[in-house]
Amino acid sequence: MAFRPCIGIEVHAELDTESKMFCRCRAEFGAEPNSRCCPVCLGLPGSLPVPNKKAVEYVIRTGLALSCQVAERCRFARKNYFYPDLPKNFQISQYEEPLTYGGHIDLEVNGQPKHIRIRRAHLEEDTGKNIHLPDGRSLVDYNRCGIPLMEIVTEPDFTSGVECREYLTELRSILRYLGVSTANMEEGVMRAEPTVNLIDESSGEATPKVEIKNLNSIRSVHDAVEYEIQRQRRCLQTGEQMYQETRLWNEEQHITATMRRKESADDYMYFPEPDLVPLAPEPEWVASIQASMPELPAAVRCRLIEEHGLPEYDAEVITADREIASYYEQTVGAGAAPKAASNWLMSEIMGYLNEQDMPISDLQVSPKDLAKLLALIGKDAISGKIAKDVFAEMAQSGEPADQIVAERGLEQISDEDRLAELIEEAIANNPGAVEDFKSGKAKAIGALVGYIMGQTRGQANPQLVNQLLREKLGQM
Ligand code: ZN
Ligand code: MN
Repeated sequence: MAFRPCIGIEVHAELDTESKMFCRCRAEFGAEPNSRCCPVCLGLPGSLPVPNKKAVEYVIRTGLALSCQVAERCRFARKNYFYPDLPKNFQISQYEEPLTYGGHIDLEVNGQPKHIRIRRAHLEEDTGKNIHLPDGRSLVDYNRCGIPLMEIVTEPDFTSGVECREYLTELRSILRYLGVSTANMEEGVMRAEPTVNLIDESSGEATPKVEIKNLNSIRSVHDAVEYEIQRQRRCLQTGEQMYQETRLWNEEQHITATMRRKESADDYMYFPEPDLVPLAPEPEWVASIQASMPELPAAVRCRLIEEHGLPEYDAEVITADREIASYYEQTVGAGAAPKAASNWLMSEIMGYLNEQDMPISDLQVSPKDLAKLLALIGKDAISGKIAKDVFAEMAQSGEPADQIVAERGLEQISDEDRLAELIEEAIANNPGAVEDFKSGKAKAIGALVGYIMGQTRGQANPQLVNQLLREKLGQM
């Protein structure tokens, strides 16, 4: 029997709006608990919801980016359930009439094209947050309750954890390029829940569907899906009983474990929300949203490869973040060599941003400044090693590279007379290394070069030192 993995993903993303979905409370992360609430988002009797137009626009924008149809008319629905973080006892969501539906996304997975169908992208509201204390008490913070939430559901078109990872990476970039969500999984702004089972296409036989929760990074989605595929295969072989259930990913143990079994399909008693009129986005409005779409990551990626000859890998890393992609293009626009700029961006700059935990928009080094620094390296005015120190200084002080180099006297030493003196000195002070080199240990020259670099605090031109040193040793 040939069982094939069959995986669908449901993503929830909080929309980056000023106010909540159905009231004017600020949609703000990290505020004093229960300080961003009102009768509407607390579900007090008699309060009435008013939809947030920006949130509707954001879902339409996302739907269009995923090639979805935008409904001419759709309704909100009540999804009924009791949970302490949702005081109304129902969530306003969309059921039979989603705002956008029937789209797709084209990915590239290990060099192969992969087409994923998008079933729907609809609008709903987030719940509050339960906080369970070690002493057994539970607290609830309603600040998150009512924040606009977009739900994006795929058809079960994935067959591996790698495909899931590529999809989520691409989707996250798209949401960021569109400016509709920060899409940060670590902060819970974007949440992904894959549903995994195995199907034998010839017999139609299938394992029960397992939904996985508690995934707070793209990597854990990949790992959990791969684990679950293997677990179900193992159960098929050993005949172990499988259940339709929700399983939690345990990051430490690297396994999924049963959270709750589903005896039957959940029945949320959906019905149309009686407090809201249907939504009917005007075609002119939808057209204007379509017209104002930014260039999406896939298009920017293609352009970087075609215009600047960047390797696929570089283009992917750089376009994952729209700000970084734009910083890159400005650096090249300021005259930097495309590959040198991408190398610097991917290593020095991204490393620095990670270390400082800050976005590139806060970086004190402008694209023009970076282009100038790269020009100094290009014409051998400073060494690559010194350039890293200069960059650190630029990021600290915001001063341009040439000024730092001039002020601190960091220019590379390429003067042959000065280098000849240093070579004399190195030879006189390292007789052991000289002996080793003469007796055929070519690597011993490293100690001499190291000595000179040390004496000049890295300012000697290493290629020139190497060349002159070889000449000198050859004459000895
Ligand atoms: Zn409110
Ligand atoms: Mn939902």
